[in-house]
Formats: sequence, structure tokens, C-alpha cells
Amino acid sequence: MTSLQENVKKVLIVTGGGRGIGEAVARLAAAQGYAICVSYVSNRAAAEQVVAAIINGGGSAIAVHADVSVEADVLRLFAEVDARLGRLTALVNNAGILEKQCRVEDMDFERVSRVLAVNVVGSFMCAREAVRRMSTRHGGSGGAIVNISSRASRIGSPNEYVDYAASKAALDTLTLGLAKEVANEGIRVNAVNPGIIYSDIHARGGEPGRVERMKSGIPMQRGGYPDEVARAVLWLLSDQASYTTGSSIDVAGGR
Ligand code: NAP
Repeated sequence: MTSLQENVKKVLIVTGGGRGIGEAVARLAAAQGYAICVSYVSNRAAAEQVVAAIINGGGSAIAVHADVSVEADVLRLFAEVDARLGRLTALVNNAGILEKQCRVEDMDFERVSRVLAVNVVGSFMCAREAVRRMSTRHGGSGGAIVNISSRASRIGSPNEYVDYAASKAALDTLTLGLAKEVANEGIRVNAVNPGIIYSDIHARGGEPGRVERMKSGIPMQRGGYPDEVARAVLWLLSDQASYTTGSSIDVAGGR
């Protein structure tokens, strides 16, 4: 089995790669030989710490500030990778937010717009830039995209964040449609749908202890860890998944 990417330097952007699931993806990918760009929006120190650890381990990594909901930032992010790491071969659309838990009837316009701008528009813009570099239509050598969706896309997250769940449903559809669009251009597009994973995101939603509260409702009776998500992501990025596109993997303890 051959792949368009055999013998090509592996270059990966992980949006929001300084913390949580993105950090786990960046570290594992570096250990597997990828040159990594970790993007961040607010926590520069965390991103630089991940980059330093990768470089100290003999890898290659850079940190770039870029708000994925700002088109100019996305363009600059990809241009920096072109200039400093070389042609992109992999993208993990990981950057994502949710807002304070509430019912739909209490959501204001700005909140819903923010969630959709980061989770949906940001992922679309990054995917667009990746395709422009990877597609054989544009002289690229192929590549792989993994979107970090959520089990919420099929649960709906009532009373917590239906806007977030809906944004992840949009990512599922981006995965499906884009996968078909570029399947014959050397690019595979897949998603990972995590369940309830230990990270800072729950505090942002107003409930730092959410994993502990929810875990009895998970068949495996525990929350998941970022590394467990990262392993699925790295499999989808790899040639081991050479015939897998338009798919999603639930990493959710059976939920
Ligand atoms: P997290 O610890 O809160 O990390 C979020 C990351 O996204 C941070 O690195 C943050 O950058 C970055 N980010 C936020 N807004 C951004 C923007 N506008 N532009 C660029 N980067 C931005 O959350 P996490 O749990 O690791 O979440 C990672 C992904 O997994 C998200 O897409 C989330 O929806 C998804 N997910 C998480 C869970 C879970 O239970 N934890 C479950 C399902 C899906 P800074 O570090 O600079 O702030």
C-alpha cells in the first residue's frame, strides 16, 4: 500500500495546541515525527511550554498566535507555517469554545455568534487553507484533516449549551462533505467525537467539576483523558487509516 505522503516531511498544525486535547495531540504527533505548529489565542505561555518540550525532545515546533475566528489571523498562521516548517501535510481543527451553561431561551446573540465563529467558521477557514496546500489540484502532495467534534453533536446538550452542540453537528457535516469533495485529491478528512474529557473547558462552561458529576452516567464510569483522544487523532492522521475518510470515531467511554 502506497500513499501520496510517503517520504514527505510531516507538517502538522494543531489549532489550540497549547492546552487540553490539543496539547496531547501536539505532543504525541511530535513523538511520531511531525513538525508541529501549535496555535494559541490567549495562553501564550502554555503554547510556548509545549513547543519547548518538543524541541527539548529533539523535535521541531513553533507557536503562533492566531484567533481562528479572524480570517487575517488564519491566513497569517498558515503563511508562517509555509515559511518556517514547509508544506503542510496535516491539520487538526481542535480550537473550540463553549460558554456558560444555560437554556436556549437565555442565550444572547453575541454568545451564539462567538461559539459559531470559533467552532464552525474558524474550522472552515483552516480547512480551506489546508486544502489549498494539500490538494493535488493545487500541486500538493495530499494530507489529512481531523476535526475535533464532540459527542454533543448527537446528544444536543440540553440545558447546558445547545449552541455548542449545534456547532459540533456543523463540524460533523463539514467532515462528511469535505471528505467527499477532496477524496480524489489525496486528502482524507475525518472527525473524532470525544465524550467528557478532563480539561479546562468545563470551568469555562461554569462547572469545573462537570466530569465528576457526569461520570456515573458514562458506561465506563469515568471521564476520559486528552491522551486517549490524541491516540485516535494520530491514527486517523496516519497512513494506517489510508482508506478511512468521512468517518468519525467516538472516544467517549461508551456514552
Ligand atoms: P480547552 O482546554 O479549553 O482548550 C481549548 C483550546 O482552544 C485552547 O488551546 C485555546 O487556546 C483554543 N482556542 C479557544 N478559542 C480559540 C480561538 N478563537 N482561536 C484559536 N484557538 C482558540 O478545551 P479542550 O477540552 O482541550 O477542547 C479542545 C477541543 O475538544 C474543542 O474543540 C472542544 O470542543 C473539544 N471537545 C472537548 C471535550 C471535553 O470534554 N473536554 C469533549 C468534546 C469535544 P488558548 O490556550 O490560547 O486559550
